[in-house]
Amino acid sequence: MLRAREISSTEIVQSCLDRAQRCNDDLNCFISLFPEHALEQAKAADSVIAAGEAGPLTGLPVAHKDIFCTAGYKTSCGSKMLDSFVAPYQATAMAKLDAAGIVMLGKTNMDEFAMGSSNENSCYGPVRNPWDAERVPGGSSGGSACAVSARIVPAATGTDTGGSIRQPAALCGVTGLKPTYGRVSRYGMIAYASSLDQGGPIAQTAQDAAMLLGAMSGHDPRDATSADAPVDDYLDALNNDIRGLKIGLPKEYFSSELEQPITDAITAALNLLEQAGASVIDVELPHTDLSIPVYYVIASAECSSNLSRYDGVRFGHRCPDPEDINDLFCRSRGEGFGDEVKRRIMIGAYVLSAGYYDAYYLKAQRLRRMLRDEFRAALDRVDVIVTPTTPTTAFPLGSRIDDPVSMYLSDIYTVSVNLAGLPAISVPAGFSDGLPIGMQIIGNYFQEARLLNVAHRYQQMTDWHKQAPAGWL
Ligand code: GLN
Repeated sequence: MLRAREISSTEIVQSCLDRAQRCNDDLNCFISLFPEHALEQAKAADSVIAAGEAGPLTGLPVAHKDIFCTAGYKTSCGSKMLDSFVAPYQATAMAKLDAAGIVMLGKTNMDEFAMGSSNENSCYGPVRNPWDAERVPGGSSGGSACAVSARIVPAATGTDTGGSIRQPAALCGVTGLKPTYGRVSRYGMIAYASSLDQGGPIAQTAQDAAMLLGAMSGHDPRDATSADAPVDDYLDALNNDIRGLKIGLPKEYFSSELEQPITDAITAALNLLEQAGASVIDVELPHTDLSIPVYYVIASAECSSNLSRYDGVRFGHRCPDPEDINDLFCRSRGEGFGDEVKRRIMIGAYVLSAGYYDAYYLKAQRLRRMLRDEFRAALDRVDVIVTPTTPTTAFPLGSRIDDPVSMYLSDIYTVSVNLAGLPAISVPAGFSDGLPIGMQIIGNYFQEARLLNVAHRYQQMTDWHKQAPAGWL
């Protein structure tokens, strides 16, 4: 409609802003909305469209996870520590989306510093799941997944360190893609665990995710870990034939913790893909059970280092009337960080300390290599690996918050993908008691086009991704 000039970007953006304002009291998915800025960008987009110079994304509104630095606008990372922080520069992923003509509607709620699986760790309060407001949307990109699920925005950005794009996408019934490590620049994306963090799109469809990923990706000299690999034409690959596709099925992902309706949904999805010409082959990922402990040693170690910069001196929260420098450090950090962040910093400092480094950190790194090698061996035999995204559907608010280990287990099917640096997508694959189920498709390095192709083909055969929660439009 935008291309056909049946509607203007200004009208779309205004309607999304109205919806965001209407729904946010109930869903709490936005930390900030920028109506003036968004309408200004929309007006500029309308002139570009009028001049016939529009690209495919010009004038479309997107919400950004509040972990991406947005120049001149509050970037809180869900933390009291950064509640008053206005980013002085633009993250590369944001700059790329600006260049594509995307309109920034606002910044979405998230677990503090991206640590969490339920969005209950935000200093701005929990986000609610649009399918059942008494349940969590998943985390840490819960605000983004919620905003797309409630049809407030057509797409949003997220980040995924151990599952934070895929797990909330699964629990909210939307499509979320975690790219290969290095595909999307981390410059200006506030660091949690630098060897695992990766930004990516959350959208209703694989097609929309393909458009957003294409615009966000690419080599960035300002991120030394950014990959200098060409960006594929993700849209072009969507309709490729999947006849002959080899799908690996790891039995380790279908354990007793997995809810039966999820097993059934994945089985039904595999049948459909087989009817489309794919074949399913058993693969082995024997050390999957180690991925949670390995991930929490490595992610905590890296976060304890990354978060040492928040000391009350250079930026971020500073305690009032410090007595001396130690009091300044202790109280600023004590007041600025929430419980989960403190827990991770303590675990990280412990596993990196002189007496324990070999026993924990070094061992976790060795196991990380082993987990990666297991994926490599499996992906030598198959094109993609299909698994559930999560062991359960959305759980009730408050039900896991006092039991960190049960919370950590929400990511049992996603964290190993980050440890291996591989790309993976979660697509809606059914419902159980009215709550969405997600299917994860894991691919080889830089095979995002293949993942989007399989997801798109699946979405042409199903309508799970088209179903929206009632009551928000
Ligand atoms: N839930 C995981 C954690 O708390 C993953 C979070 C993420 O991917 N950012 O670390």
